[in-house]
Amino acid sequence: MAGCNLRCLWCHNPEAIMKDLFDHTTREIFADELFEEICEDKLFYEQLNGGVTFSGGEPILQSGELTDVLNKCKENDIHVAVETAANYSFDLLKSILEYIDLLIVDCKAISNEVYQKCTGRSNEAFIENFKILCNEKRHIWVRIPIVWNVNISIQEIHRIGEFLQPFQLDKVELIPYHKMGIPKYKKYKIEYLLQDVTPPTIEQLETCRDILSQYGIIVSCE
Ligand code: SF4
Repeated sequence: MAGCNLRCLWCHNPEAIMKDLFDHTTREIFADELFEEICEDKLFYEQLNGGVTFSGGEPILQSGELTDVLNKCKENDIHVAVETAANYSFDLLKSILEYIDLLIVDCKAISNEVYQKCTGRSNEAFIENFKILCNEKRHIWVRIPIVWNVNISIQEIHRIGEFLQPFQLDKVELIPYHKMGIPKYKKYKIEYLLQDVTPPTIEQLETCRDILSQYGIIVSCE
């Protein structure tokens, strides 16, 4: 879903977050129409024990428009997952939480300074929302983007471990940085600030995994 209130340096979907690019890459769709499209794959979801995942951009920024679609998914026993950075007023999410089976939440950094430098926004709302969701015992997968020396350092991965340790999470994944978004930045003539950053090495990913395991967190890697 188009639109995002963050500007992650590594975002590989610039066309989905910047309003002036929407015309080229997005279309408006009514809730009924969207639900019909979702239903086209219902047999597939049933056979593979799957469901629909709303991604973006930040889908929760359109929670009002999503309500009908999610409600219909619930009524039709379609499993609903939502990928989110969880950085907004909790009220936006609260109104549709009952229709969501799984939240896939980005944990980009715990140090506010690092988070802000990487996304352009404070992480206060993320921290608060994440705690509320965990305390409500929601099903949560955490995704940690690994952009070495950008959002992740030894110190930062320890902070993430300390933060996540108390919570019951369904899954924690490391998402290694990749450069596949660069051609889009070129195409849309947007400056790409991570030109010189390389994807993390196996050793760096193993370091993250080992540090998180010190906090009792078992990770998988995409
Ligand atoms: S939260 Fe996701 S969609 Fe939004 S800027 Fe960051 S990576 Fe891109």
